[in-house]
Amino acid sequence: MATPSPWVCLQCQLSACWTGSASHIVAHLRETGHGFAVQAKTGALWCTKCETVVLSRRLTSERAAVVHKEEEARTYFQGDGKKGREAYTPWKPDAKDAGLLRGITTVPCRAHRGILNLGNTCYLNCILQTFLHNPLLRNYFLADKHNSKACERAPPCISCELDKLFSEVYSTTTNGPFAPTSLLHATWTIGKDVNLSGYAQHDAHEAFMTLLNALHAHTRGSTSSACNCVVHTLFAGTLQSEVLCARCARPSRTLEAMFDLSLGLAAPVGQMLTLEGCLKRYTRVEKLDARVCGECGASAEATKRMSIRRLPPVLCFQLKRFEHRGTDKSVKIDAHVRFPASINMLPYATPKVSAKGMNKNAGTGPPAMYDYDLFGVVCHEGQLDNGHYTCYARLQDEWYRYDDDKVTHATLRETLAMHGQAYMLCYVKRRLEYRPLDLRPSYVRAREAEIEEEKRRERERELRNQRELEQQLLDLV
Ligand SMILES: [Zn+2]
Ligand SMILES: [Zn+2]
Ligand SMILES: [Zn+2]
Ligand SMILES: [Zn+2]
Ligand SMILES: [Zn+2]
Repeated sequence: MATPSPWVCLQCQLSACWTGSASHIVAHLRETGHGFAVQAKTGALWCTKCETVVLSRRLTSERAAVVHKEEEARTYFQGDGKKGREAYTPWKPDAKDAGLLRGITTVPCRAHRGILNLGNTCYLNCILQTFLHNPLLRNYFLADKHNSKACERAPPCISCELDKLFSEVYSTTTNGPFAPTSLLHATWTIGKDVNLSGYAQHDAHEAFMTLLNALHAHTRGSTSSACNCVVHTLFAGTLQSEVLCARCARPSRTLEAMFDLSLGLAAPVGQMLTLEGCLKRYTRVEKLDARVCGECGASAEATKRMSIRRLPPVLCFQLKRFEHRGTDKSVKIDAHVRFPASINMLPYATPKVSAKGMNKNAGTGPPAMYDYDLFGVVCHEGQLDNGHYTCYARLQDEWYRYDDDKVTHATLRETLAMHGQAYMLCYVKRRLEYRPLDLRPSYVRAREAEIEEEKRRERERELRNQRELEQQLLDLV
């Protein structure tokens, strides 16, 4: 200790020092049998009996009050040396303040950092914002599951780049936009094969898929089949395509992995589409032309139906606004697609839509397990070749609009009003875990209920017999 702070005996007010191992105050307490001493500077309380510093809530608060009062008396406002500082009273909104406060929304701090546009990179910035606002991906990176300082992979490692991005946005006090230089460089390097490099406007959905594939590849424990890396755990679902032969009615099913669902926007001009409508279209029964059935070998007509066999915790939709026509001609479809803040996916899940032979409600679990909440919307504004990407994203209950480095507060209503520009929709599952209370099969439960009922009837019969016996005895008397 550089400057010894005096200790004061609480019984006789003697003050003495305590430097290193030489404690004059403890010597005093031992000599006199006095019980307590307090350090003037910190308020630490020494107990002779316990031979240690002890905590006294009362002393702490009384000392704080005295210190506060002294400070009040000694501190003066700048430029006004005469008047003492006004005593502190907590702020209570008056009628005028309360009026102004009505209807405002609270703005949480952090995690609303813009990302600099490094030359037509808004397509990438939007995808990064959907990653940053994905609560499950955030948990993964903030839980230090991939530490860029400990990673041994030779750069570029997309996991490392995202780890740095998450800690830049969530765990530093820096404000102002983030410049994703090394992330962009890494994206260009890994995106070479899909032509996702250079200072040209790219497709946000392509960037999304490229980043997910790279993140999967750059995560420890990734495998080519049944992978349980963070990407596969969060984004991967399974699609089922079922073809039903009209002659033998035997289904043939094909499964396909999905990272998101791409929905076509076929609609008469001027008609408003809905996400639910697009999903219904996607999972409707389609008639197929006559074909040779793999089951019965006959040439017969068939029907085909798509459904989602396994829903991922993070469910993203791509609204196919860009259509390739001819060799290198693309057009943008300016359809309006209304999308909800919450969606229940049960109607599009496999057991519900599957053809006959399947119990309609078997194995689907409670409908509440299919609830999803919107957390991100990637928008494309303007024309195909001179368009611009923006993103709406939710942090807990607050919505923000991200236009590269510009971040503005938004509302759910404003977000849902982007039905003319929405290109990608990101939803997250509301309940991640479901444990049914009763795991026994229904026939076991039915049998046990029967046994219970049998026992109850038996008890009733006994009771009746006993009462009859008593009555007979009474009658005899
Ligand atoms: Zn004393
Ligand atoms: Zn803030
Ligand atoms: Zn890494
Ligand atoms: Zn994987
Ligand atoms: Zn057949």
